[in-house]
Amino acid sequence: MTEPAISRAARLYDTAAELADLFGSRAAAHESAGTFPYENYDDLRRTGYHLATVPESYGGWGLSVADVTRAQARLGEGCASTALVVAMQVTQVARAVRAGWPQATLNRVMEGIVEHGYLINSTASEPATGSPSRGGIPTTTATPNPGGYSITGRKTYSTGAPVLHYFVVSANIPTNEVGARPQVANFLVERDQPGVSIERTWDALSLKLCGNDDLVLENVQLDKSALLASAQKPPPESAAFSAAWGLPVAAVYFGIGRAAAKFAAKYARERKPNSLGKSIAELPHIQDKAGRMELALLEAENTLFAVADLAATGEADRNPARLTALVGAAKFLATNRAIEAVDLAMRIAGSASLSMETPLQRYYRDVRAGLGNPPMDDVSIATLGKMALGIL
Ligand SMILES: Cc1cc2nc3c(=O)[nH]c(=O)nc-3n(C[C@H](O)[C@H](O)[C@H](O)COP(=O)(O)OP(=O)(O)OC[C@H]3O[C@@H](n4cnc5c(N)ncnc54)[C@H](O)[C@@H]3O)c2cc1C
Repeated sequence: MTEPAISRAARLYDTAAELADLFGSRAAAHESAGTFPYENYDDLRRTGYHLATVPESYGGWGLSVADVTRAQARLGEGCASTALVVAMQVTQVARAVRAGWPQATLNRVMEGIVEHGYLINSTASEPATGSPSRGGIPTTTATPNPGGYSITGRKTYSTGAPVLHYFVVSANIPTNEVGARPQVANFLVERDQPGVSIERTWDALSLKLCGNDDLVLENVQLDKSALLASAQKPPPESAAFSAAWGLPVAAVYFGIGRAAAKFAAKYARERKPNSLGKSIAELPHIQDKAGRMELALLEAENTLFAVADLAATGEADRNPARLTALVGAAKFLATNRAIEAVDLAMRIAGSASLSMETPLQRYYRDVRAGLGNPPMDDVSIATLGKMALGIL
């Protein structure tokens, strides 16, 4: 008998909690040594969490965006860097299943993920384009030849690069036609193909352990089955579906805010300065900060999960424009309210929050990174504004 979805979802959440605690306990040591947490990925594969969105027919959990968003929020409480790599994996798998890839290629990728524990991400950003969500044309080129395509270029911010096997690479297909519009498509590149290399470039304030390195492609020969789908102007339903699968990414940043709040609450209960003779949790100004911290998180959490529930019940097909706007709102709140919550948590802890001995400094650095993932704040607010004005 197959396990009901509700029980699989509960199991995924429990797994997220187990992994969050484990990954969180390793983060400080890796940050100070400047090492990548490879062992987190052994644990990920041991538990099968990376199969959360692989359809059951391939041997995965087949879970919905609502279930995965909740689990990702919990995972983000541990090591947000690793949780982001995992978010990319579960999101890309869900998108691939819907994207209409050639069936044989999809089967091969799903089998690679299930049988070998391979991880996948989309590598679209380039120095010239900035965020691909703005519509820039990639300078990476896929030149047609008798065998298929030869692809050359450099992708930046390739989250999880040290452990990825599959890269979904956006590239433009040059044409000799004068005045023709550039054709942009996604291609499947595998790590072990000749001409593929990773340059360890990620040296950042935030998410130090997420391996946002450069993918370098030098005349990588791909056969025709590597052409996945056009990367231009999908139908609104597909675009909304894809946008909704950004929620498990946004959930990671919400998770950082939640982790900061939990830390600050415990700290406040335990900290008893001798000027007071009781815990600082008894102080009105600390209670005020804690209340505002919780309010920010409640607002983010309720919107995030409500929109994820809506997406999981088919809103992308019923009302794609509305879902896209609501996803932007959820992402905006998840990141910005988490930033506020971390700030308030640090104000509660006082100067101890600056110590490298507490995780608050890591939360403070990591939570900022959410602003760099699409949809960007200006886009979210403008889309919401159009919805409010009835012109979306
Ligand atoms: C933690 C993290 C993980 C990431 N993971 C991935 C990944 O897995 N795969 C991937 O492909 N990319 C990834 N990215 C890259 C991300 O999607 C962006 O490409 C990157 O953050 C650069 O975006 P930017 O807006 O700062 O770029 P820039 O283009 O340098 O923008 C600079 C500023 O100008 C504004 N701006 C730029 N263009 C416009 C415009 N047309 N209209 C209005 N405002 C504009 C921006 O909002 C920003 O404020 C990741 C980034 C981060 C931070």
